Amino acid sequence: MKFELPKLPYEADALAPVISAETIGFHYGKHHLTYVNNLNNLLVGSKFENETLLTIVTLSDGAIFNNAAQIWNHTFYFESFAKEGTGGKPDGDLYKAIVAKWESFENFKKEFVAAGASLFGSGWVWLAKNKEGKLEILKESNAGNPITIGYTPILTFDVWEHAYYLDYRNRRVDHLNDLWRIVNWNVVNKRF
Ligand code: MN
Repeated sequence: MKFELPKLPYEADALAPVISAETIGFHYGKHHLTYVNNLNNLLVGSKFENETLLTIVTLSDGAIFNNAAQIWNHTFYFESFAKEGTGGKPDGDLYKAIVAKWESFENFKKEFVAAGASLFGSGWVWLAKNKEGKLEILKESNAGNPITIGYTPILTFDVWEHAYYLDYRNRRVDHLNDLWRIVNWNVVNKRF
């Protein structure tokens, strides 16, 4: 099986100024593409050669895991956004579950950003559903993904410097706070 770079559900400049076209050019056009190319090369002759991406993320380790998980994470991340102005908040069951756990949507956002801000080095902050169906915020280093511990991912923010450095330089917290403006809750609701 040969993996391909998935198409973005919006134009490269659609998420500006939170994520500029220049950042999309590097983050999607180069970083994400490199993970795809690396994985395709690593899979040749490996036991995961004919497996799905999800199976590879769940069962592999080392370089194969790193590249496979980065493909999965980036696809999930890029699909979580839409043109500025559609941000708002989740509705229905997801909104209720968030308020039940964090008391208010504002408080959830604060805790999510604080988790991303306090993650040392490169990684991802996740909203995920645990095996009991309860929501949790998780910090994962490098290519980490809560699927590997049986959780269902709902939303993720990329806190690798390549995700925000062109647009926000060292201001990671400002970038994370601004990402709420472009979250596509229609997509995120369905994951819950
Ligand atoms: Mn990234």
